[in-house]
Amino acid sequence: MIQPDVTIVGAGVIGGSIAYELSKRGANVCLMDQGEAGQKASKAAAGMLGAQAEMDLDSPLYSFAQYSKAIFEGLKEELQDCTGIDIELVQKGMIKLARNPLEQEGLKKRALHFKESNEQAFWLEEKEIQAKEPAIQTGGMGGLWIPGDGHVNPSALSTAFVQGAVSNGAALLDYTQVYSLIVENGKVNGVMTSAGPIKSNHVIVAGGAWSEELLQKTGIQLNTYPVKGECFSVFAKQQLLQSTLFTEGCYIVPKKAGRLLIGATETPHSFNERVQVKGMMSLMERAAGLLPALKEASFEKSWAGIRPQTADGLPYMSRHRNLNDLWIATGHYRNGILLSAGTGVYMADLLEGREVREDWLQTFSMERQISYAGRE
Ligand code: FAD
Repeated sequence: MIQPDVTIVGAGVIGGSIAYELSKRGANVCLMDQGEAGQKASKAAAGMLGAQAEMDLDSPLYSFAQYSKAIFEGLKEELQDCTGIDIELVQKGMIKLARNPLEQEGLKKRALHFKESNEQAFWLEEKEIQAKEPAIQTGGMGGLWIPGDGHVNPSALSTAFVQGAVSNGAALLDYTQVYSLIVENGKVNGVMTSAGPIKSNHVIVAGGAWSEELLQKTGIQLNTYPVKGECFSVFAKQQLLQSTLFTEGCYIVPKKAGRLLIGATETPHSFNERVQVKGMMSLMERAAGLLPALKEASFEKSWAGIRPQTADGLPYMSRHRNLNDLWIATGHYRNGILLSAGTGVYMADLLEGREVREDWLQTFSMERQISYAGRE
């Protein structure tokens, strides 16, 4: 019977990243998943590392996203050395197109904000976009150019985290469902699983959209909900795009060997992992409107995944206030791949009692939800 110091529930990109970082620091970790590691939201993602396109620029989430993004360059080499897996980090930039005057105004303001804070993101007029990406149908409104943006292969990243953790000495128990937490005298002492009880000093719940269901059994209410997302991919004969193309409601990410990944739909409160025709039809129509040559490309496949979202749109990365040694890392919604690298380091710092940024501590705390919901 294994007796880890830290049990992590969920071997998606979040649980995997935490397991990797903790095991690298010498912790005795057990990573568990009810299925195969990395097969849920983390496999469905497009893999964009898009901190500057959407987030509120003065927020703790934005500073955390930038912090996480900066880790990726070193992480790429580190994971490659440790596991032989290439996470396919590409940094060829992103264009966020304005599709109407309101979006144009918003993106221009964003560009100005970046200029004032000396960040690498610029407003591009119609002609400049056309020169950069001739295959795009721009809509004539210009857009924001973010040269440092990029993407990774999310599946390779999730697998590399898990394999990296295992090569650092972590135990992986896949196909093992965690039924409930073992709670004794106001402290979490392990988990009850389909393979029997596993005792440990700390438990980290990183079960993505399914975290809430598990925590509810111990009377913990997170206020999260699932948001289904669908994507599809195609192969084009020639390279249609260099940079990622992003608009409200549709993005196109150029991957390796002429492959283009197109996403994503959003259906709140759905755990349905089937791809539906209506989702594909609306995505295809939007994508072809942005990149008409897409109609000639060969369809590869489509898929769906369930994003974990919170009521206030911010992830939980926190210890539980009243139940000692229970930790939560979920609710990364549309940015779990981007935030994964930072989450691993941040959660490991929290567990080790290291000093972390006060604004992150407050913002990502579970207590914000408790006071918001008036519980406890
Ligand atoms: P998951 O990957 O869902 O992993 C949770 C794991 O926990 C699962 O493997 C599950 O089996 C396991 N689990 C749950 N409960 C239990 C239990 N009781 N016992 C044992 N195991 C359990 N993010 C980006 O940054 N960039 C993108 O471009 C991007 N695109 C996306 C596109 C789509 C279509 C979708 C769906 C998501 C996208 N995301 C993107 C978001 C990102 O994928 C998620 O935020 C991230 O994968 C969440 O990771 P996770 O580990 O929390 O959850």
